[in-house]
Amino acid sequence: MTSIRVLSVASELYPIVKTGGLADVAGALPIALKSEGIEVRSLVPGYPAVVDRLEAAEQVLEWPLFFGGATRLLRASCGELDLLVIDAPHLFGRPGNPYTSPDGIDWPDNGLRFAALARMAADIGLGDVPAFVPHVLHLHDWQAGLAPAYLHYSNRQHARTVMTVHNLAYQGKFPPALLGEFGLPPEAYATEGVEYYGTIGFLKAGLQFADRITTVSPTYAKEIQSEEGGMGLAGLLRARARDLTGILNGVDVTVWDPATDQNLPVHFSASDLTGRAAAKAALQQRFGLKPLPDAFLLGVISRITWQKGLDILLEALPTILGEGIQLVLLGTGDTSLEIGFRSASEATAGQCGVVTGYDEALAHLIQAGSDALVVPSRFEPCGLTQLCALRYGAIPIVSRVGGLEDSISDLDDDAVPTGFKFGPVTADNLARATGRAHAAFRQTPLWRQLQANGMGRDVSWRGPASRYAELYREIAT
Ligand code: ADP
Repeated sequence: MTSIRVLSVASELYPIVKTGGLADVAGALPIALKSEGIEVRSLVPGYPAVVDRLEAAEQVLEWPLFFGGATRLLRASCGELDLLVIDAPHLFGRPGNPYTSPDGIDWPDNGLRFAALARMAADIGLGDVPAFVPHVLHLHDWQAGLAPAYLHYSNRQHARTVMTVHNLAYQGKFPPALLGEFGLPPEAYATEGVEYYGTIGFLKAGLQFADRITTVSPTYAKEIQSEEGGMGLAGLLRARARDLTGILNGVDVTVWDPATDQNLPVHFSASDLTGRAAAKAALQQRFGLKPLPDAFLLGVISRITWQKGLDILLEALPTILGEGIQLVLLGTGDTSLEIGFRSASEATAGQCGVVTGYDEALAHLIQAGSDALVVPSRFEPCGLTQLCALRYGAIPIVSRVGGLEDSISDLDDDAVPTGFKFGPVTADNLARATGRAHAAFRQTPLWRQLQANGMGRDVSWRGPASRYAELYREIAT
């Protein structure tokens, strides 16, 4: 069988640049696909963090003028990842995260910046970059969404396309006046083109023109076809239902491995969990909690947003803490919620601790040291933290939505339970779920069984990578 070449296109890539789960997927899937005989190159914008990390960079092509400035395409590697980097300082050579300035404000030219990413992907998909001619473009989220539209309006032979939706809430909408600047023809601004409720919709364009659509869990694939979950795109997604599948994400099991994790005071594994106690003690100390080895300790690692249901957690907090449960939270996001959690933490010193910020090492310690991980999302395309929790013996307490529904089985519903589920997402239901978990925690053999079940689950990329490989082969041949 000929090897299939895939260009993966995403605006973030772990371990170089990450704001969320998208980066984890874009960084891990290409490596997992190697054992499926798929050759992947990842196209990534040349942010300073990317350019600084390149090993053996070599120029492939250059343009004197590409979306407003001189641009080079570089071929390089970073660890096991093979990259194509868009070195366009006028678009990407800026501080801050991929989307915002250091003070958190979206760059005003984000439309142009990510149109450039998609345009470069399309040029590669048209075979215009001889150094790498892919069979398939795998496009992730709205930032890459215009690529299938560029290919469509090129009227030339081109690579096949897969559009993956990691979160339908982020759609990339820009004013129609920018159509020319994006390099799209006037006829593209139509309902059956890129037009989307009076804007240019980047994700909409991808969903309209990609050969296949995937999302990151089977349940989310169903939810986004409903009016409630479709966020304006339900009609289009229903019309494309035959081309839409859900493939649950994996996690990088080398990064998330309690037997080798450098962030833990003592390593542990499914066969010997004693090292968890040291992580729990370290966590209690770090968050200023009472050093009680037997307290039931809940962990939360999350963006602090409405999507993640953290307002519901804040509302349920008095009931949860009233049971003597401890809670640690690591996250950033909505300022008023951050303030709410901080004042709850001050009012209940020693029982609830909050760290606002982004801290990978601390996220690992929370997985290792908390007894249960709470994920009360209102919607959750896949969710990665509950998968990491399974690896670390932290029992997930999750809402019954999206990938949480698909990846966790409830103590009362399943022969091989791995956690606790609740729904609808209300403070009462959440507190009842943490109460059920607390009761189970007090029955040590039952709790050990839950941990063993979770740690025995294969949450690696092996299964998902073989599903993606199958999909590429279906459309490429
Ligand atoms: P999202 O919707 O934010 O992408 P996911 O659960 O899919 O949610 O992925 C979030 C990823 O980011 C996980 O790997 C999680 O551990 C990590 N993460 C989230 N918030 C923080 C934080 N404040 N510090 C460190 N890691 C975080």
